[in-house]
Amino acid sequence: MQKRIGAGEIMIQIIFSWIIGSILGSFITCWCDRSIRGQSILFGRSHCDTCGQVIGKRDLIPVVSFIRLKGRCRACGAPIGKACLINEIFTALFFAYFAYRWGWHLWSVRLAGLLLILLAISTIDLSEKIIPDALIAAGILWWILTTWLLRLSFLKGLMGGMALGALVWLTALIVDHVLNRESLGGGDIKLFFMTGLYLTINFAFFHLLLSACIGLFIYGLWHRKNDHHEDEMAFGPAISMSTMICICIEPFIVRLFSLFI
Ligand SMILES: [Zn+2]
Repeated sequence: MQKRIGAGEIMIQIIFSWIIGSILGSFITCWCDRSIRGQSILFGRSHCDTCGQVIGKRDLIPVVSFIRLKGRCRACGAPIGKACLINEIFTALFFAYFAYRWGWHLWSVRLAGLLLILLAISTIDLSEKIIPDALIAAGILWWILTTWLLRLSFLKGLMGGMALGALVWLTALIVDHVLNRESLGGGDIKLFFMTGLYLTINFAFFHLLLSACIGLFIYGLWHRKNDHHEDEMAFGPAISMSTMICICIEPFIVRLFSLFI
């Protein structure tokens, strides 16, 4: 998939991808934060939530600014939320990995786009407990466009999406019947369908299993941290994380299966 290039060139691609990733991660977090508050991303400048001071350009550099300011507002010293920093580092790490693994190929662009959509979904789901349909639609459109550009099989992806969506929907129906309450939101089922398109049928079951494991792990942490028992938990981040893990360890799993078959 990747033509032979020198080690220096690979290094440059990795570093640039890290920088682009941290900037886009920061942008997505800011966009989610503003859309949750009903503010526009185009108008209005970033400001401190505590004192309202507009944040200057020198304090808007992803990761670097946070470290330099020791995670505090320059004007009032109030702590800055770590969510943005975590998202910036996460995105930068994945972008760098895509560049290392596949180089600057259209395949990496496809994965980078998916990562940003999943980041937005996770951020909004964590705070609002909702997965916006518009983001699911964006994920599906991005899949159609990149599948066409990369000349991949539409059928394989569709089978993955349909199988996963149907399986999760059926499981949710049974669990709802047993527990007598809603276990999975409609947004989660749509998200499984959307991620199934990218992972194809090969990874559908593994993805479902891994999402459930990550979900249970997050649920456990959540309950230990919060004394009040909140029934509703955001499952979007677990599904998103599982998707990215499946994509990154795909070569490893394919090799593992080839040992047995
Ligand atoms: Zn401040």
